[in-house]
Amino acid sequence: MILPINTYGSSILRKKAEPVGEITPELVELAHNMLETMYKANGVGLAAPQIGKSIRLVVIDLAKEEEERDPIILFNPKVEPEEGDNPLVSDEEGCLSVPDIWVKVSRPGKVHLSYTNENGERIDIRNAEGKLARCALHEVDHLNGILFVDKISVADKAMNASKLKRMAKENQSSGNSAL
Ligand SMILES: [Zn+2]
Repeated sequence: MILPINTYGSSILRKKAEPVGEITPELVELAHNMLETMYKANGVGLAAPQIGKSIRLVVIDLAKEEEERDPIILFNPKVEPEEGDNPLVSDEEGCLSVPDIWVKVSRPGKVHLSYTNENGERIDIRNAEGKLARCALHEVDHLNGILFVDKISVADKAMNASKLKRMAKENQSSGNSAL
């Protein structure tokens, strides 16, 4: 089932999401619906607040177009920069909740990622890097009410200010924050 995606200006995107308790079949079904929604929108990651559920659930699929799908379902994900030599890496990001804006964001290059999968097993990945690190950091930010546009340079913010303002206004007037 394709779910509606909340966009910039929706208040749920600014809320801290609640931890998930038991992994129920309903939650796994929700995760699969999120994956379907993400694939349809050509995204690589989606967090539950984006589809109107303020819970700590994220889906990710970093497979390239020509590759087979490789979905990951992450309940209660935790992501922390690895200690030691771990310089920030700057790369372009976009977000299904902030359409038409692509800007560079600096993030830690290596992270410690852990989460509970759909079978209830805790998975622990040390030194995750590249797209997985970036995507996990972006999605866990969503669970904490943070958007990538909060982290961009002053110049990029200025350049996109009118687009952001327009989106925020549309969402307030349409009152779709409860989707
Ligand atoms: Zn996003």
